Amino acid sequence: MTERTPPEVDRQAAARAAVAARRARAALKVQVARRERTALSVAEEGWAGERTDPAATLRVRELLLSVPGQGPLRVERTMERLGIARSKRVGGLGSRQRPLLAEYLRTRERPPRRTSRLVVLAGPTAVGKGTVSRYIREHYPDVLLSVSATTRPPRPGEVEGDHYYFVDDDTFDGMIERGEFLEWATVHNASRYGTPRPPIERALAEGHSVLLEIDLQGARAVKRAMPDALLVFLLPPTWEELVQRLTGRGTESPAEQQRRLDTARVELAAKDEFEVRVVNDEVGRAAAEVVDLLAVPGERA
Ligand code: 5GP
Repeated sequence: MTERTPPEVDRQAAARAAVAARRARAALKVQVARRERTALSVAEEGWAGERTDPAATLRVRELLLSVPGQGPLRVERTMERLGIARSKRVGGLGSRQRPLLAEYLRTRERPPRRTSRLVVLAGPTAVGKGTVSRYIREHYPDVLLSVSATTRPPRPGEVEGDHYYFVDDDTFDGMIERGEFLEWATVHNASRYGTPRPPIERALAEGHSVLLEIDLQGARAVKRAMPDALLVFLLPPTWEELVQRLTGRGTESPAEQQRRLDTARVELAAKDEFEVRVVNDEVGRAAAEVVDLLAVPGERA
């Protein structure tokens, strides 16, 4: 009987497949090391699929070594304790070892880290959203605050490109047509305000958190467009305090003030739609609470 050697083409195809499998296993390890996914999810993928899948052919030792904070010595001890041989592959684990490894990883690993978050600060008229966001702009220069476009004229002291982009109606229409807004709305039945989309998408993609200070309808629209956004509702300490703030500002006519009061009453009722509520009793304290929300949990030591 003659020994059959595989034809040259088969050998080349097998070598290519082996290289691809090695690359796929390396990619899995990188994802775990960067906390983009958990080692547990890789193990579970290995147990759910084919015995030849990258997650199944990955050695348990390699998988454990890619978990941040795990050195060779600790991995060796862990494997000994779990009764897993050094050369074992994920897919080759028996029915007794799989739950042991899963349980170990579940208690050992933190969930994957998100690096950026969109926080939307909204609340009733005159609750002090603008004051809180101004305080954040001045005291926390690292916080990225989105600058809206508006058709209302600048108030004294307001700076183009800093507080708002002040644009005319035609320019605003053009921005809508070109899809440049994440959301836009007519506020207090008067001027239009819109949140430019590109700077926000860029910042989030680069891993920076972004703060938006917009009205309630805008917050709802952002949540629809970006469900991961965190909605924060700024509350007045009391209703009387809100009325005082609304009428005390003195920059609007009495008719405008009454219109804003009516809007505020309706808006206040929306507080339960929001994931987080912050009481604006003292601007510095409220600002610090909002800034804390921009830091993704687990990011800080
Ligand atoms: P003000 O004219 O006093 O600066 O702002 C009036 C209202 O417009 C505030 O409630 C503010 O939160 C809201 N606002 C500011 N920018 C935007 C925006 O881009 N979109 C929406 N929907 N509201 C905004």
